[in-house]
Amino acid sequence: MRNAGLGSWPERRLRISPNRPAIWFEGATTTHGEFAHRVRRAAAALSALGVGRGDRVAWLGANHPAALETLYACGQLGAVWVPVNARLTPPEVRYVLEHSGTSLVVHGREHGTTADTLRAELPAVRTWVAGETPLAGGADSLDWQQLLADAEPQPRDEPVTPDDPCLIMYTSGTTGRPKGAVLTHGNMTWSCINQAFGLDVTPDERTLGLAPLFHIGGLNGTVNPTLLRGGCAVLVRGFDPPATLAVIVDQRVTSFFAVPTMLDALSRRPDFGAVDLSALRTIGAAGAPLPLPLLRTWLDRGITVQQAYGMTESAPAGTMLDSVDAVAKVGSAGKPQFFVDVRVVRPDGTECDPHEVGEVVLSGPNIMAGYWNEPEATAAAIVDGWYHSGDAGSTDEDGYLYIRDRYKDMIISGGENVYPAEVESALLELPEVLEVAVIGVPDPHWGEVGLAVVVPAPGSDPDPDRLRAELRTRLAAFKVPKHVEFADELPKTATGKVRKPDLRSQYVPQEES
Ligand code: ATP
Ligand code: MG
Repeated sequence: MRNAGLGSWPERRLRISPNRPAIWFEGATTTHGEFAHRVRRAAAALSALGVGRGDRVAWLGANHPAALETLYACGQLGAVWVPVNARLTPPEVRYVLEHSGTSLVVHGREHGTTADTLRAELPAVRTWVAGETPLAGGADSLDWQQLLADAEPQPRDEPVTPDDPCLIMYTSGTTGRPKGAVLTHGNMTWSCINQAFGLDVTPDERTLGLAPLFHIGGLNGTVNPTLLRGGCAVLVRGFDPPATLAVIVDQRVTSFFAVPTMLDALSRRPDFGAVDLSALRTIGAAGAPLPLPLLRTWLDRGITVQQAYGMTESAPAGTMLDSVDAVAKVGSAGKPQFFVDVRVVRPDGTECDPHEVGEVVLSGPNIMAGYWNEPEATAAAIVDGWYHSGDAGSTDEDGYLYIRDRYKDMIISGGENVYPAEVESALLELPEVLEVAVIGVPDPHWGEVGLAVVVPAPGSDPDPDRLRAELRTRLAAFKVPKHVEFADELPKTATGKVRKPDLRSQYVPQEES
């Protein structure tokens, strides 16, 4: 095969294990062989619509097999897939489509109206295709299912190299405007191999595709590694805790990737203790710090939670705890995955000693080529081959990585560094606290002090002084937030990360200028 990229994976699976299940979605199973033929048809259909090498094709929607069909078809053509966060408003979607220079959009049934709104505003997008029958709006979009039915499943063999771009994936936008990370075919391959090794993915895997495919954890956390390995991706449109728990049980799900907020919502289901999770082997958890009480909830059920650390820019393989150390090294994000190097460095680039906090930097064949059309941001992020994460971390004497927090979120109080994640984890141990985010606010004496924004647990009425007194028994005094505010909810990204810039502009108005 001249295609050395991700687009060739379905062809290779067709050769090796055509009859094994590849995708389960809403009651229907597609085998690897059937998937390969659908991808061939999809590539033929896109090609007939004028898509060729280097062209950008967006997927805008919830999790759906058409998302993977468009990705792999682009991979066969050498075109570039652009997954768009399905939760964005039309003007935000417009920004991503314009910034990436997308010419064709395939959208889910929930996005017909967005397609209708943007069609007139974005002439550069020549074609709009509805991935499934639209429920509302989108009547002028072409019909993906029909296009595939009409196309020929001929094999193609465009030359695609590991260095060719495979997709532009936008970062979560936790700290600001999302940046478009260009991930090459090589990045995808090496990251998925890392993930498959790290989670011991097998051909019998039935992984739950729960996290959004438009984020790197949802796409490459377990779904693509499982397809690579010949297992089955059990796709769900989105995260609905009772329905998700039911699918995990009914489909005998063996693994999944999740962000901590998802695990929290699942474990708070009243039926959590009673459901049969005997098939579930392991969970890859990443994207944000995993509070220890939450980790214990799953470990107590006999399910391994492999804390991992990574980012869009590393596709996302960085570090991972293996299933043995998940218990012994609780709280750590593990060791570098097989084909990636991770170091903790001082500002001058020298390596930190064990337990010394520094910036986490990564290097390996999975690190992005750069940010799309942002050479300055790329040059600032990748220095001498090392991607600078902006995350503060340290290692222990055995080489296990501990992530503190983002430097952008660190609070410097009276000259001491306070990592909000540690304070949040301590607050979450208190039964009256359902959710919490700690941010720094200016203080005339200390420079900065912590402000905890707490969502109280249902039925509780926490008292700020009592919460602070509790914390003083668990944390050094300088880490205890000086202020506590209560809120009904916290502003979050699509993967459930708290958007601290939004909190800061709400609680620290003078920062806005
Ligand atoms: P943006 O870059 O747009 O602000 P983002 O950094 O949240 O958004 P992602 O690439 O989805 O976008 O997330 C990667 C970041 O998530 C990491 O840099 C780190 O800050 C955080 N993260 C990932 N895994 C962990 C973990 N195990 N523990 C703590 N933080 C983590
Ligand atoms: Mg980031």
